[in-house]
Amino acid sequence: MRILFVTSEIAGLYKLGGLGDVSFSLPVALSRLGVQVSLVMPYYEKITLAPVKCIGQLAADFDRRREIVFVFRTTLPRTRIPVYLFRHPLFNKYHAAASVDNFAFFSKCVAEFYLYSGEKLGGPYDIVHCQDWHTALIPLLIGEECKVGKQIRETLESTRVRTVFTIHNHLYQGETGVMTVLRLGLPLSLFHVYETPRGRAIKLMREALEYADILTTVSPTYARELITAEHGDEINLVMKRRQEVVAGILNGIDQNSWNPRSDRAISANYDLAGVRAGKAKNKKSLRQALKLPASAGPLFGFIGRLESQQKGVDLITKSLEPLVSSNFQLVILGRGSPGIVKKLQDSIKPYPHVVFVNTFDERLARRIYAAADVILVPSKFEPCGLIQLIAMRYGALPLVRKTGGLADTVVNRRTGFVFKRYRAGELVEKMREAITLYHENPRLWQQMVGAAMRQDFSWDRSAQAYLDLYRKLVGAKKTEIG
Ligand code: ADP
Repeated sequence: MRILFVTSEIAGLYKLGGLGDVSFSLPVALSRLGVQVSLVMPYYEKITLAPVKCIGQLAADFDRRREIVFVFRTTLPRTRIPVYLFRHPLFNKYHAAASVDNFAFFSKCVAEFYLYSGEKLGGPYDIVHCQDWHTALIPLLIGEECKVGKQIRETLESTRVRTVFTIHNHLYQGETGVMTVLRLGLPLSLFHVYETPRGRAIKLMREALEYADILTTVSPTYARELITAEHGDEINLVMKRRQEVVAGILNGIDQNSWNPRSDRAISANYDLAGVRAGKAKNKKSLRQALKLPASAGPLFGFIGRLESQQKGVDLITKSLEPLVSSNFQLVILGRGSPGIVKKLQDSIKPYPHVVFVNTFDERLARRIYAAADVILVPSKFEPCGLIQLIAMRYGALPLVRKTGGLADTVVNRRTGFVFKRYRAGELVEKMREAITLYHENPRLWQQMVGAAMRQDFSWDRSAQAYLDLYRKLVGAKKTEIG
């Protein structure tokens, strides 16, 4: 079984969030199961690696010009799994303004790469597995000539291409004007075009949902939410229409990398038996580093992207005033747009027990997981969420909203705290409950910490589920494309 795994980020090379973690750990777990996986991602300027070998080039037309893309080969950190990095000026930076066009072009390059990848390039591949909107045009682009009914390339006929598309987050769909289609040199008739006040547009993710053989998402509950959304957009409609090819497979975490016993970033290593003392030491050192006074109250943490539609940062800021007389401290680590950062800085000013660190810093994130008693994940929606899984591994109880993967992984009063509706009042109530429990029932608290740390969120089970899916797909009688 040979899989080409295409992604826009990989932990260890370039990571913005959970997608980077998944794109590292899932291929590693798959290769442990005997699958031959190769990865492809753009070669951003920020990726600083040595040694990286240029192994060739490929040509693809974009905006009526023949573009040359250099292909470099490296390996996933600490493994022998090949990663192909595509270098082109359009892939230097990953910035919002131009990125939809750039990723459309990236997808075209991957389709080219796929078509001509023989043994030397890890191929021929049985399946191309695409992640999120950045790679969403690949199922359409591979075999595009079959789809427009022109001549069918030998390679396509013989390889019988199959594609899997995974939704890691439906909020970002890669919306762009129809100019992108023209730049790709494709007929508009292949796309699902719709009108907007700014003109005709397409969404790259929509095309993947239409053209990929199998659709997966990163938790069973999120898959259900996408299929049953009552006031859904066309993404939900397509998911509903194609629900027989939809699978929800929970993400895991890399248990080696996220391990309080061996984590080099934290002040004191610990395991389940030594969690109390270990946490106390980590807490002391984090408090010192962040200039928080010693306290008998629980330490809460929040780690995540600061944005306004998903992560529930607004609920947290609204909860500070009602909780002003409660004995706790809160550390927030996150990066976001200047507007959101400023708003957060202003709203925590009156509260000296709240510290906000505005950066992306994996070492600090690890220190927070190790020190915290509670990690807040009050998301409006959450496809899977890794933060609550990492938190449990480090003996920090996740306090989450019941949605998506959070609902699938945290059990109220057993491994964490769960509230239902997206209301600041409900978050406040749960935080109060956690603070009271911490002070008044340390026995139950430690039981919960133990239960959380014993949870198994390793990738093995999920990787097996992906492998079963791949096998089914490769074994399935291929229906004609188009
Ligand atoms: P997302 O929606 O961002 O993918 P996940 O919960 O799936 O959310 O994954 C977030 C990942 O990114 C976790 O590994 C978390 O530790 C990390 N992370 C998020 N924000 C930061 C930050 N500011 N500094 C360091 N790590 C961060």
